Amino acid sequence: MNPGVRALRTAFLGALLSAPLAADPHLVLLSVDTLRADAVGVYGAEDAKTPAIDALAAAGILFEDAHTTIGKTGPAFASIFTSLYPPTHGARRNAQRMRTDIPVLAGLLGEAGYEAAAFISNWTLRSDLVGLDRGFDHYDEEFNEARNAVGVMERHADDIAKAAERWLRRRADDEERSGRPLFLWVHFSDPHSPYLERTGFTPPAPPREERTSGWQKRWRYQSEVNYVDHWLGRLSETIEELLPGPRYTLFLSDHGESMGEHSYWGHGKNVHWPNARIPMILAGPGLPAGLEVQAPVGVVDVLPTVLELLGVEAPPALEGQSLVPTEGTPEGAPRPRFVIGDRHSALFGKSRRSAPYENPLQISMELDGAKVLHDFSKRRTVYFDLTVDPREEKPLTTPPVELVPPLGRRLVNWYRDLPKYEAKSATVLSEEDVKQLKSLGYID
Ligand SMILES: [Zn+2]
Repeated sequence: MNPGVRALRTAFLGALLSAPLAADPHLVLLSVDTLRADAVGVYGAEDAKTPAIDALAAAGILFEDAHTTIGKTGPAFASIFTSLYPPTHGARRNAQRMRTDIPVLAGLLGEAGYEAAAFISNWTLRSDLVGLDRGFDHYDEEFNEARNAVGVMERHADDIAKAAERWLRRRADDEERSGRPLFLWVHFSDPHSPYLERTGFTPPAPPREERTSGWQKRWRYQSEVNYVDHWLGRLSETIEELLPGPRYTLFLSDHGESMGEHSYWGHGKNVHWPNARIPMILAGPGLPAGLEVQAPVGVVDVLPTVLELLGVEAPPALEGQSLVPTEGTPEGAPRPRFVIGDRHSALFGKSRRSAPYENPLQISMELDGAKVLHDFSKRRTVYFDLTVDPREEKPLTTPPVELVPPLGRRLVNWYRDLPKYEAKSATVLSEEDVKQLKSLGYID
């Protein structure tokens, strides 16, 4: 185990021993689509105005180095809810259905007596696409706003926060339901492109001499982030009021966003850090307040961690691990971390309801301060020495660290041994669906 993970485990252990787990705590998952960690104040963004997220970090544990599995909304959430990488949970692209024979977070909590409710705002999370609604008693997926000229139906932060508030208010008045523990998931999407200028939430414009290519886009993006934080703060106050009792809150993003780095704007098609890195914060009874964890963690760790905190048994064969220690946890080898980049196109012909397994565009592995990246389309493997090149700007042709087995071999072995499933196409997509996917940048 690397020193960071050991320190994390020690920190958790001390805190948990001093405060036993609460009985039947609620679980609140607040997520923001396409949110780069470095656009959040507590992660060091100087021009950000994100007091709600910052306050959550002050009350809990901030994971400085958290990664998603893939820069795509549906597949990334499938990883969050199953602790599996996309080839294994089956939703490798948006609008591909995840397997129905694997346990999901909402289902496991439902079996443990939880009520589960979701409020989503990204079109790709629609229940008839990836199938993320499985296990939820209430899945609010009304899209009633045109986000751009193409007519993409999304929900803005004010609408999604108010919908969740109305539902929480009704639930609080229902004596029978309000006695049950709740798993509440609210997903905000505003930072997703197109980036709108949010009046009243714009950061100061950079001085003329510091304006690099694309600065207006970055500036508008930050205004969307600040806007989401405002509504996240308001929703958090309502939750505080209407959901009494012990409660764990997890905040995260499904993936980041490349803003010109590696000659790319957007997310999903590569495995570099702007896509992979996400903010992740966890707060609740018994957890230390204001702790910053430097150890590398990933969204595949979410399910086992949350289940352990809630006292629910985890299913076997997970690809992540609980970040909560148990006494006598053996110290293993340093844990590698993987990311996948793939084509955006999600569609099959109307006659084809399943697609044979295909290699993604890119896969990568990080271990011991080094990263190996294999590009299937270019048939090329490159390395990065993250200790001197954390922004992955200087590809190397040989590994910067000597490991046995070597770095490249480990990546190949992982990918070879990873259980892979044919993708099933979701419902046959309508012309309108295709238009929406195109405008989101999901179809070339
Ligand atoms: Zn997303």
